[in-house]
Amino acid sequence: MTEELRNISKKLSKKLKRDRYEHTVGVMYTAASLAMRHEADMAQALTAGLLHDCGKFCTAKEQITLCRERQIELTASELSMPALVHAKLGAYLAKSEYGISDHEICSAIMYHTTGRPDMTMLEKIIYIADYIEPNRREIPGLAEVRHLAFTDINRAVCRTAKATVRYLEDSGKPVDPMTIDTYRFYKEV
Ligand code: FE
Ligand code: FE
Repeated sequence: MTEELRNISKKLSKKLKRDRYEHTVGVMYTAASLAMRHEADMAQALTAGLLHDCGKFCTAKEQITLCRERQIELTASELSMPALVHAKLGAYLAKSEYGISDHEICSAIMYHTTGRPDMTMLEKIIYIADYIEPNRREIPGLAEVRHLAFTDINRAVCRTAKATVRYLEDSGKPVDPMTIDTYRFYKEV
């Protein structure tokens, strides 16, 4: 592990709750495996995976307050779906608190919750790694997405977006328009 990664990991282990930190390490190594398979940059995948939830160190309410203080603009749907705020805040904190100047890493953090149409390979890797990492509770279809992640990553993205839309609808929660755009885009790819 590089010195930079070790320092970030030490800092995160103090900031995040134990379960969240363990999830973060799971995403980091899953992202590295996907980078090996899909010929993406492994160092970027490790760093983005490690930091993807760095915005989740406090409650959603506190995250919104922090965004206001730092003048990070939130869309109406982000305000109505506070679970999305940590991604935007995380991309900001990666830069300001963890010294990441790589835009591709920050963008992968920014879109890890909703995805977006036409993602970069690194964005797809973090989006998928977040969903399939080993600590995730087994749910129907997860084994298949895990397989697809290594065989047909675009289909894995499509499945993940579809499952996210369905999960939100079933639990009566609003669905972010970006998640729907992601699903529509990858359905056609
Ligand atoms: Fe997240
Ligand atoms: Fe996550």
